[in-house]
Amino acid sequence: MPEFELIGRIRARAAVRDDVILGIGDDAALLAPHAGQQLVATLDTLVSGVHFPVDTAAADIGWKSLAVNLSDLAAMGAEPAWALLALTLPEDDAAWLDAFLDGFLELAGEHRVALVGGDTTSGPLAISVQLSGFVPPGQALRRSDAKVGQRIWVTGTLGDAAAGLDARLSGASGSAETDWLIERLQRPQPRVQAGIALRGHGGAAIDISDGLLADLGHVCTASGVGADIHAHSLPTSEALAEWPPAQRMALQLGGGDDYELLFTLPAEVDASSLLPSGVRATAIGSINAGPALRVLDADAAEMTVRHRGYRHFGKTQ
Ligand code: ADP
Ligand code: MG
Repeated sequence: MPEFELIGRIRARAAVRDDVILGIGDDAALLAPHAGQQLVATLDTLVSGVHFPVDTAAADIGWKSLAVNLSDLAAMGAEPAWALLALTLPEDDAAWLDAFLDGFLELAGEHRVALVGGDTTSGPLAISVQLSGFVPPGQALRRSDAKVGQRIWVTGTLGDAAAGLDARLSGASGSAETDWLIERLQRPQPRVQAGIALRGHGGAAIDISDGLLADLGHVCTASGVGADIHAHSLPTSEALAEWPPAQRMALQLGGGDDYELLFTLPAEVDASSLLPSGVRATAIGSINAGPALRVLDADAAEMTVRHRGYRHFGKTQ
């Protein structure tokens, strides 16, 4: 099937929005930026065998390729609008493409994202999504806004996706708990509305893609602060609660792919009252003058942590 027929299948299913003057079909998309708003732009690539196991279902790849980008806009407090999709495909497989679009467009529909263009080439399977959105001037959430005395919060539960990957690679599945963990890996729920709700409260935010300690480390570096994390207060799902405690803790501190938000707020602000109903918020520690990022046990003694997160280049710590 020639490339333009694949593009035609995409075009036939892509939804539009009022601010899309010209979507898929010309040399470039023509878009109407929103007056008085700042444009927020992000791009993430998923490579087969690196970001997802090679036998991952096409619909799950489609979902995740958009979800990771939505998560970045969530961490900026932005409202998503337009996506560009670069597909590098090993074969001109229409059935694979249709299933990929099932997952991608399902999530796009949930967040009113219009797919407005892209590129289609042949090669080893890789997907890049460029996503744009909007935020009122000066209200974007930044990594550099953590301040001494603020509390550190996370949405949802931690470690589930890393446990799901572990289960996936070891071939374990079948129990409801394991399937739920694998679902957390393959179908992350980006915290878009939570990010928007956090605007204007004076804290920092980041999404947890590489692992809690790695991503909190980015916030601390950008803000020039340190942090204490209380290991016993990390939010744990029912499924992960069944895992051996040491293994569970390592996944919660160092495991990536949860796509929850980590954010800071002045100590007197309760995140639970800010976030949309149904989004769990847990205080897990506080910002201090630093410079260290410490993990404390239930007796407030510092713990030694070996695996601090995922890195593409150089050794994982
Ligand atoms: P050109 O050769 O001018 O770059 P293409 O043939 O690559 O044009 O693309 C034709 C149209 O299809 C463009 O509007 C482009 O944005 C869109 N398009 C191509 N690939 C994709 C894709 N994977 N997803 C969405 N739109 C795509
Ligand atoms: Mg052209």
